[in-house]
Amino acid sequence: MPLPVNPPATPATLSQNARTVLEKRYLVKDKSGKPVETPEDMFWRVATTIAEADRKYGATDKQIEKTANQFYELMTQRRFEPNSPTLMNAGRPLGQLSACFVLPVDDALSNGQSGIYDTLRSMALIHQSGGGTGFSFSRLRARGSMVRSTTGVASGPISFMQLYDASTDAVKQGGTRRGANMGILRVDHPDVMEFITSKEDLTKITNFNISVAITTKYMEALKAGTSYDLIDPATKKVVGQMDAKEVWDKMIEGAWRTGEPGVFFIDEANRYNPVPHLGAYEATNPCGEQPLLPYDVCNLGSINVGYYVNDGKMDWKSFAKDIHLSTKFLDNVIDANKYPLPEIDALSKRIRRIGLGVMGFADALIKLGIVYDSPEGVEFGRKVMEFVDVEGKKESARLAEERGAFPEWAQSIWGPDATCARDENGNRIRPELKLRNCNVTTVAPTGTISIIAGCSSGLEPLFAVAFMRNQAGVMMPDVNEDFVAIAKKEGWYSDALMERIAKTGSVIQPEVPEKWQKVFATANNIAPEWHIRMQAAFQEHCDSAISKTTNFSHAATQDDVRKIYELAYEMKCKGVTVYRDGSRDGQVLSTGATA
Ligand code: ADP
Repeated sequence: MPLPVNPPATPATLSQNARTVLEKRYLVKDKSGKPVETPEDMFWRVATTIAEADRKYGATDKQIEKTANQFYELMTQRRFEPNSPTLMNAGRPLGQLSACFVLPVDDALSNGQSGIYDTLRSMALIHQSGGGTGFSFSRLRARGSMVRSTTGVASGPISFMQLYDASTDAVKQGGTRRGANMGILRVDHPDVMEFITSKEDLTKITNFNISVAITTKYMEALKAGTSYDLIDPATKKVVGQMDAKEVWDKMIEGAWRTGEPGVFFIDEANRYNPVPHLGAYEATNPCGEQPLLPYDVCNLGSINVGYYVNDGKMDWKSFAKDIHLSTKFLDNVIDANKYPLPEIDALSKRIRRIGLGVMGFADALIKLGIVYDSPEGVEFGRKVMEFVDVEGKKESARLAEERGAFPEWAQSIWGPDATCARDENGNRIRPELKLRNCNVTTVAPTGTISIIAGCSSGLEPLFAVAFMRNQAGVMMPDVNEDFVAIAKKEGWYSDALMERIAKTGSVIQPEVPEKWQKVFATANNIAPEWHIRMQAAFQEHCDSAISKTTNFSHAATQDDVRKIYELAYEMKCKGVTVYRDGSRDGQVLSTGATA
C-alpha cells in the first residue's frame, strides 16, 4: 500500500525568508521554472522517501507511515533539518542525498580509476548532484619533477587544482548551486609555499577553500624553532628542508589577508579515524568539519537547539527524543541514497558514517540569558554537544541491535577488545560500543538549512542583530526576533535603534541594557579566544570536527591570528578557520559597518 501522496494537514512554520530560499533553490520546478510543489510537499517527499528505508528492516506500511509523519513534523517544526542535498534530491530521479565527499587524486593523468583526470570526472558527477568535494593533492609530484614517459616536467599540484577549479565553474550544480571544494596539501610537500600563496589573488581559484595539512612533526619543529623535511611524494625521499617558522608566518599572513589557507591538524584528526584499517584521513569536505577517507561520504543533519528552550529552561527530555529520531533519519539516508560512484556506495554501506550536529545554539543561549563568551556559555556548549553525542550513540547502538552493527565494526576503534583498532601504544582509542555508524557526530556550518529553520547557524554566535543577507542573489533583511521581543517587553524598542544597530553592526548602544549588550554580543564583538574555547568545548564530544569561523576585527594584527592558531592546536581542535572583517569582497553576510 503506497503512502499518502499529499502531506499531512499541518503546515510548516516557515518565515518568509525561508520560503523564498526554498522556492529559489529547493522546490521541484516545471520547465518554465515555476515550482510545482509547496514547501510542505517537499518535506513530505523527503519524509516518505527516508521512512521507506525502514521497509528493508521489516517495517509494515503502517509503521512506515507513522515514521514518515514523525520525520515530517521534525522538519516542518524546524526541530531538525538534513543537509541541503537531502531536501533537494530525496524522492527525485537523481536521489543523491549527501553533502560531503572526498576523492583520491593519484599521481597519474589517468589510471582508469583515480588518476587526475579520472577524479576530475568523478568530481563533475558529484557536483552535478549537489555534493561538495575535498581532495588531497599531496600525492602529486612537485612542480619541476621529471615525467618519465615524456621526459617533460610535471606542472605540480597547484596547476591541477586550478584545472579542477575551472571545471567546477563549468558544471553548475543541478542548476541550483555552484560546486564547492576543499584542496589540501601536506606541509611537507615540496610545493607547500606555492600552495599557501595560491589564493593571494582571490580572482584566481574561486571554487576552492584551501587548508594546509599540519603534522605533529611539523608542529614540533615549529616549537623547537628548527627546520623540517620536505618529502617527495613519489619516492618518499627527503628532497629539501624548510624553516618551520617561515612557513607558519606565511600561512598566518595569508589567513590574516584573505582568510586562507586554513589549517587541518591531520594527525590529530587521524587519531580518531574510526576505521584505520581501511585507510587514513587525507582531506576534509569543503567547509572542513568532516575529515574523510578516499571515496568516503557523509550525510549531515542538524538539530535546532534553540527550539528546546521554553520559558528560560532547556527541555532535555524532548531534545533527547529528537536526537534519537534524527539519528535514525540519518541512518536511513544511507540506504535511501543513490551514490554517484560504486566505490562510494560500497564504502558508505561498510562504515555507515553519519554526522549529526547542532544549529540554533546561540539562540538557545540567548533564550537562557547566558553570555556566549563566558565560562557558563562554553560550559553549556560542552554540555549540549556531549548530550547530542551520548544520545546519538545510544540510538546508533539501538539501531545496531535492530539492524546490525556497521560491517567494519569489529576492526574499528569501537570494536571488541580482541579485534579493535588500537593506538601506537596498544591502548584502546574509544570504549567498546556496538554501533550502527562508525561516526555519529559532526557540527556543520548549516549555511542554508539554518535559514530554512529560521535559527542561528551551527554553534556560531549571532552574526548581527539586524543585517542584510545576500541569499541566492537576493538581499534579505534579517532581524533577531528575540531581541525585538525583549526590547519591546522592556520598553526600549525603537525603529531608530534597530536602524542604528543594522548600520553599525553593534548592539553596544546607550538604550540597550548592559546585560543584553553581553547576551546579544555578535561574532565581531566576541574576542577570538572565546571562539576557539567554544570550538574546543564542542570538539571534546564530537566524533568528527567542528565548522567554526573565528572572527577578527578589521584592525587585528598578524600576531593576533598567530596566537589563535597556536591556541587551537593546544586545545586539540582539528582545524582553524579565521576571518578578518572586511578582508574579502562580496561577503555572504554583511553588516552596515562593512558592506
Ligand atoms: P546546508 O546548510 O546547505 O545543508 P552547510 O552550510 O551546512 O550546508 O554545509 C555542509 C556541507 O555541505 C559543506 O561542508 C560542504 O561539504 C557542502 N556544501 C555546502 N555548500 C556547498 C555548495 N555550494 N556546493 C557543494 N557543496 C556544498
